[in-house]
Amino acid sequence: MEKFLAKFNHSQTSSSTNGNPSSLIDDLNLDSLESDLGKRVPIAHYNNPRIKDEVRKHYIQKGPCQPKMDSYPPTKIGKRMRQFCKIWFEGPYSKWLEYSVEKDFVYCLCCYLFKDDFFHGSTSEFYTKTGFRSWNRALERFRKHVGDVNSIHDKCFNKMLC
Ligand SMILES: [Zn+2]
Repeated sequence: MEKFLAKFNHSQTSSSTNGNPSSLIDDLNLDSLESDLGKRVPIAHYNNPRIKDEVRKHYIQKGPCQPKMDSYPPTKIGKRMRQFCKIWFEGPYSKWLEYSVEKDFVYCLCCYLFKDDFFHGSTSEFYTKTGFRSWNRALERFRKHVGDVNSIHDKCFNKMLC
């Protein structure tokens, strides 16, 4: 991260010299951004609003990370083995639900991108930072995460669609 900021500061100086604003985007190197949320840099770590916007646009264009695999790692919950189900990528959660192969957790794309604009705190960190893996109660918890109109998730989702 420090390396990135150092590079960015350098590019800011050079762009003001040569007047080429696109050099900021080049230095960010969008191709190097991790698609797996388990390995992504938290959005709040992008201090510069222009860089943050570029990162957000990049992830919105790519859409949620939804690796379709034949099977997902089983986890013992209670007396039974449970696992992520790829059918959850379909239906009402298709636009935001993400699965991290790295962590075997699910996350929420829109909350990852915009939650900090609405709320600073640990709410919904299961879906933006720490990940969620209670497969036995997944659908119930997804519904709870979405919540009502004007929930944090709903605000983030609407912002992602703008
Ligand atoms: Zn969400």
